[in-house]
Amino acid sequence: MKVLKYIILGATISLTSSCGEGWLDLDPSTQIETDSAIQDLSHVEYSLNSIYNVMRDAYYYSGRMTYYGDVTGDDVQANGLTKRTSNYYLMNMTRDTAPSTHWSYAYQIIRNCNIILSQIDNLEHSSAEQARFNDLKGQTLTLRGMALFELTRLFGYPYTKDNGASLGVPILTEVVGVDYKPSRNTVAECYAAFVSDFEEAAKLLSEKFNKGKVNKWTAMGYLSRAYLYMGRDAEALAMAKSTIEGAESNKYALWTNAEYPTIWASDVEAAKPGEQLFEMVNLTTESPGKESMGYLCSSSGYSDMILTSSFYDLLTEDEDDVRAKLFLIKSKKAYINKYQPQASENMQDANIPVMRLSEIYLIAAEAASKLGNHNDDAVKYLNAIVQRANPAKSVEGEIITLDRVLLERRKELYGEGHRMFDAIRNQRRIERVNGSSSAVSSTKHYELLPESKSFDWNYFRVVLPIPKGEINTNPNIVQNPEYGNN
Ligand code: CA
Repeated sequence: MKVLKYIILGATISLTSSCGEGWLDLDPSTQIETDSAIQDLSHVEYSLNSIYNVMRDAYYYSGRMTYYGDVTGDDVQANGLTKRTSNYYLMNMTRDTAPSTHWSYAYQIIRNCNIILSQIDNLEHSSAEQARFNDLKGQTLTLRGMALFELTRLFGYPYTKDNGASLGVPILTEVVGVDYKPSRNTVAECYAAFVSDFEEAAKLLSEKFNKGKVNKWTAMGYLSRAYLYMGRDAEALAMAKSTIEGAESNKYALWTNAEYPTIWASDVEAAKPGEQLFEMVNLTTESPGKESMGYLCSSSGYSDMILTSSFYDLLTEDEDDVRAKLFLIKSKKAYINKYQPQASENMQDANIPVMRLSEIYLIAAEAASKLGNHNDDAVKYLNAIVQRANPAKSVEGEIITLDRVLLERRKELYGEGHRMFDAIRNQRRIERVNGSSSAVSSTKHYELLPESKSFDWNYFRVVLPIPKGEINTNPNIVQNPEYGNN
C-alpha cells in the first residue's frame, strides 16, 4: 500500500506542479496518470506509447539530443551565431545558461518507466499473453536504460577516463515523491544500472521487428555500445557479433551501396527492416515540428547546421564514397541530407535513426582493433562498411588500428549524434580547424573560445552543467567541476 500511496501522490503532484522544480518539473500532458491507468497490458502499451512520444520530441531524439554530439565535435558546426545549435557548437555554456531539457526529458522517461515497472508484475495476464507481457516489460527496461545512458554521457565524464569513479547522475529505479532529493551516483554505478536493464530486457524482448519500437536487437545493440564505452572490449565484440547475427537472421541487413543515398526516406516495414535497429518514426499527423533534424539540417528549413570544411575534405577524399552523396551543397556550404522525409511528408517529419546496424559493425571493428589479437574480426566488420561505401575499396590484409576505425565511424555516422562522444571516450582530441575545398569556401569556423577550439576529455565543457533548477531545489546535487557550486 505504501507504494500505491506514493504513486497517487506522484500523480497528484504532476498535475499541479509549476515550472522550476528541477527533475520533477514535468509536462502533465505527457505524464502517465498513475492512480488508475495501469490495470492491464493494454494500459502498459498505452503508457509506453506516451514514453515513445517524449523520445520523439524535438528536444529529445528528433532534434536536440541528436545534434548535441555532432555540433560539439569537429565534423558538424552551427551555420551562424544565432542558430539553435550555436551555443552547443561554441561550447560557451555556463551553469546559468545551459538548457534543462536534456535532464528533464530523460528523467521524465525514467519516472514513467518506473511507474510501469512498479506495477507490471502485479498485472494478471493469461499464459497466452506471456510473450506480450515479456516484450512490454523488456521495452520498458530498455527505454529506462537508454535514458540513463544518455544522462550519463551528457553529465558524466567518460567511463574510460577514470574507470567510472567520477560523478554521473542520480539512478532512479522506484516511484518517488516530489520531496525526494537524490544524490548523484558515480559513472560506474550508472553504467552498472543501465547494463543491468539492457541485459534483463534482452532476455524478455521479442526478436521481431516492431515499427518505431525497441526489440531484442536494440537492447543488445545498446549493450554492445555500453561495453565499448566502458572499455570492456571482449564483451563489446562478442555482444556486437551476437547482435549482428541475431538481427540478420530476422531480416535486418546493411543497406546496399545502391540503396544508400535515398533509403533514408524509406518507410521501414517488417518485410524489410533494413538497418534501423531503432528509429523515431515521425508522422505529419504527429510531427515533431520545425525544431527537428529534418528542418534544422535543410537549407530551405532553418539551415541550422552544416558540415565543417575540414570534415568535407575528409569525406570527399574518395569521390566515389557513397556517403559523400548524403549532403547537398548550397552557397558553398554542405547541408546534411540524411533526414529525408518519408513519402508525402514535410521535411520536419523525417524519421530519426537512433541505432543502425552499421554502428554495430563499427562497434565490433573498434572492439576487435583494441583487443590486439582479433585483427581478422576487425578486418571483417570494418570491410563490410568500407566496401558498402565504395565496392572498389577494401581493408583486406591491413592491420586495423583504432584510428582507422574512428575515421570510418566519422564518415558513416556524421550527423547522427556520435562524434564528440567517440573522440573523448577514446582520449582523442577534437580539433576545430578549417579545410581547403573550394566547394565549401563559405564555411569557416566562427570565433571560438581557445579551449573550445582544441580539447580532449580534460576540458570541463565535455560534460554539461547540472541544470540550475535542479541545483536550486536539491541541496544533495553537486555541480560538475569548474561550473561553480550553486
Ligand atoms: Ca516520417
